[in-house]
Amino acid sequence: MNTNSNPSQLKITDIRFADLDGTPKHCPLIKIYTNQGIVGYGEVRDASSKTYAAMLKSRLVGENPCNVEKLIRRIRQFGHHSRQGGGVSGVEVALWDLAGKAYGVPVYQLIGGKYRDQVRIYCDTDVEGRHSGADMGRALKARMDMGFTFLKMDLGIGLLMDEPGTLTAPLGFLDDMKKHASSAINEARGSMERKQAAGKAYEINTVAHPFTGIHITEKGLDMLEEYVRQVRDIIGYDVPLAIDHFGHVCVEDCIRFARRVEKYSIAWMEDMVPWQYTQQYVRLANSTCIPVATGEDIFLLDNFKPLIDSGGVSLVHPDVLTAGGILETKKIAEYAYDHGVATALHMAESPIGCMAAVHAAAAMPQVLAVEFHSADVPWWNHLVNGLPNPIVQNGFITVPDTPGLGIESLNEELIAKHIHKDIPGVWEPTDRWDNEWSNDRLWS
Ligand SMILES: [Mg+2]
Repeated sequence: MNTNSNPSQLKITDIRFADLDGTPKHCPLIKIYTNQGIVGYGEVRDASSKTYAAMLKSRLVGENPCNVEKLIRRIRQFGHHSRQGGGVSGVEVALWDLAGKAYGVPVYQLIGGKYRDQVRIYCDTDVEGRHSGADMGRALKARMDMGFTFLKMDLGIGLLMDEPGTLTAPLGFLDDMKKHASSAINEARGSMERKQAAGKAYEINTVAHPFTGIHITEKGLDMLEEYVRQVRDIIGYDVPLAIDHFGHVCVEDCIRFARRVEKYSIAWMEDMVPWQYTQQYVRLANSTCIPVATGEDIFLLDNFKPLIDSGGVSLVHPDVLTAGGILETKKIAEYAYDHGVATALHMAESPIGCMAAVHAAAAMPQVLAVEFHSADVPWWNHLVNGLPNPIVQNGFITVPDTPGLGIESLNEELIAKHIHKDIPGVWEPTDRWDNEWSNDRLWS
């Protein structure tokens, strides 16, 4: 790696992309090239579009990538919540990688130093198809046997879909949901597919929790409670267990569910209703003793503040590649920390997004754990060179001391092998974005 560059003269010359699939999801990777041979690695949020980063190219070429804050202040207006935050955030990661490589220091050092040498990784786990709590318990136990010390499982109304008498809903709606948009029930595995972004599937996918009219019956709650009991029977009570992907039901049903499973020591329940509904979060948090979490779809600290200030969350769960990047995620964690709110990081991306999360996590005053979705994707570790293999060892990632993110180079052969079939091309020219232009000033 060339780290003998002249940082003050460093300039961005090009930005290119490669769209991986199955990583575990669709992951658009970013390379930012410079006039001194060093290349910065970034990544757009999982299941997002490289367009959100490509449209920034003309605003970045010719600039010095080491001026991270200055450049982010310029492009921040083109980011938004969820996947739309992925362009700005992914570019920010690549800028830090370049600054670190230019000055020969790790990213965590550039943003204030580290609080820890290792970051705890928590392992997301799902079991496909119809299954019992005992099946999930065994899948989680297998994670513990791999060394993971913190667990999360999917648990929600998807389990009840084929169980008569467990869900009430406007007649026909559940059938429509099953037929057109099963991912609206449980989108645990894989990326959103193109066909889900149109027609009836789109209509159903975008009905938010308060508006589905779905309610869980006592029989349904009995089944969910029994499921959690079986899980705890197998994994015991020593290990933390979080819950995600509950499904699109109203906050009242979330409260009924939470009260049923409080006794099984749940670490947190995540994204129970859309994060925008601050008052519903306050109501949920005030109605149960299970810690309430959200945040993977929130862009910028300012948008976390209402949830933290109101007492609506016990834990924030930002994704570096949506939140606005490494430094913004650190600021979110600091604000949460000062308000007695814990932080864990969402992460469902390639080793590039993962190391961005690791540097952010190393530099924040408190972090419970960083998420990991790729325990079942063995080639995930081989995508990069210069890190320990496997990257996660005994449930932890060691914070690297090498320059930038700590990734020496990418495994180009493997990347070429796993390119998304609908988005071909590997690091192809992006000239068509060179003349993208508008009057970006936000006032007249
Ligand atoms: Mg989640």
